[in-house]
Amino acid sequence: MKLIYEKSQAGRRASVIPRPEGLPAADVPEELRRAEPPRLPEVPEFELVRHFTELSTRNFGIDNGFYPLGSCTMKYNPRVNERLVMLPGFAQLHPHQEEDGAQGALELEWRLQEILMEVTGLDAVSLQPAAGSQGELTGLMLVRAYFEDQGESEQRRKVVIPDTAHGTNPASVTMAGYELTPVRTDARGNIDVEDLRGKVDEHTAALMLTNPSTLGLFDENIEEIKEIFHGAGALMYYDGANLNAVCGISRPGDMGFDIVHINLHKTFSQPHGGGGPGGGPIAVRKILEPYLPVPAVVHKEDGTFALDYARPKSIGKVRGFTGPFGVFVRSYAYIRMYGPLLREMSETAVLNANYVLARLKDAYDLPFDRLCMHEFVLSARSLKRDHGATALDVAKRLMDYGFHPPTVYFPLIVPEALMIEPTETETKETLDAFCDAMLAIAQEAADDVTLLKEAPHDRPVRRLDEVRAAKNPVVKYGFEPAPVA
Ligand SMILES: *Cc1c(COP(=O)(O)O)cnc(C)c1O
Repeated sequence: MKLIYEKSQAGRRASVIPRPEGLPAADVPEELRRAEPPRLPEVPEFELVRHFTELSTRNFGIDNGFYPLGSCTMKYNPRVNERLVMLPGFAQLHPHQEEDGAQGALELEWRLQEILMEVTGLDAVSLQPAAGSQGELTGLMLVRAYFEDQGESEQRRKVVIPDTAHGTNPASVTMAGYELTPVRTDARGNIDVEDLRGKVDEHTAALMLTNPSTLGLFDENIEEIKEIFHGAGALMYYDGANLNAVCGISRPGDMGFDIVHINLHKTFSQPHGGGGPGGGPIAVRKILEPYLPVPAVVHKEDGTFALDYARPKSIGKVRGFTGPFGVFVRSYAYIRMYGPLLREMSETAVLNANYVLARLKDAYDLPFDRLCMHEFVLSARSLKRDHGATALDVAKRLMDYGFHPPTVYFPLIVPEALMIEPTETETKETLDAFCDAMLAIAQEAADDVTLLKEAPHDRPVRRLDEVRAAKNPVVKYGFEPAPVA
């Protein structure tokens, strides 16, 4: 397919706006004018529309297929979300609008905060962080602010993270200036409590834990873990990026966690992963509320809503204004559609994951054979040993069957990992079609492994050189790639 620049012909225009009579010429100072006009493609409107429509059909998204991308919670984004976010009172609101002209927007933010407090079982929320990873960093800044207040910030330098953690966890710990203390996973897929005991002491600032973990397993020793950390005077941070398994069923606050971030773009629907912005609010226990970012969205006694900057212990701002507002509207709409039945969202997500797991666990290896939560991790270890087919080959072949591949090679502790998260929105027919494809691929590996090795066969782009793409990304047209070192 040609680039839009290659379709360009000098003088062609999408539209020419008639110039009203008597309109003075734009008064641009000489020194600010370009010698040459910018090199833009010149095409008629229909060429433009055809070009980008054609490109869009080569893409894969949640709107044209099943997307079981583990840990990413790629659920369908209901269209009503988009209608609501386009309401002029939301879409045309200026971020500098005075409070009395933005009461509806502030009320929506306040209500979302209240819902997130209820869902997490904690006492205060800041909607400001723009992503899960930024929520993590913000949460760790709160940990630091808290221990500074206690006079213990010099002493408490370590943050404990299990080896199943999402990559953003160790990155956030390092960025926040803490030292990493890794802890092992035991044979059942829980944190290894014996390993943990030896690693938590008066130098520990916090635990960062995802529960259910990235293995899709709920930690069976969470109460004991809580005793260990709170007993050592440390705080507990809950990575709630995928709250999809537990909404309305169990609450991080009740498990003993002091700080939680929630990925609105995952759990509460939002085009994401290249398709839109995210939101990573944090919820905290009362003792941490004074340090939350400003401004706080508050409900005043006179019934109005306002922005409160008078928080002397606040860590300050982590993002512009009050956060990614469009994300709040969509998430609020999604939550309100379930109303008091939000629990059904999680129950269906867990049911769907267990259904797919039950159908696939004989054809692939299952490293931790337990009831799963919102997702589960299989391994292509035996396919590799017996037929030379890797997790990557399985993922690529799935594309030929019309499915987005699952997450592969993560978590790192599972060799040839295939991490599958169906979410609650899919029908049984779709889940069955996906399982049929996975089973067919396992059979193909035995019969004719080249089918997998050379996949995808039926997609606009065939197998890419992943090493070269990672080491030498060429993202600019007309750029001569350097040879891979
Ligand atoms: C997605 C995810 C994150 C990071 O969230 P971003 O919004 O992508 O920054 C952190 N932890 C877990 C477990 C996740 O799945």
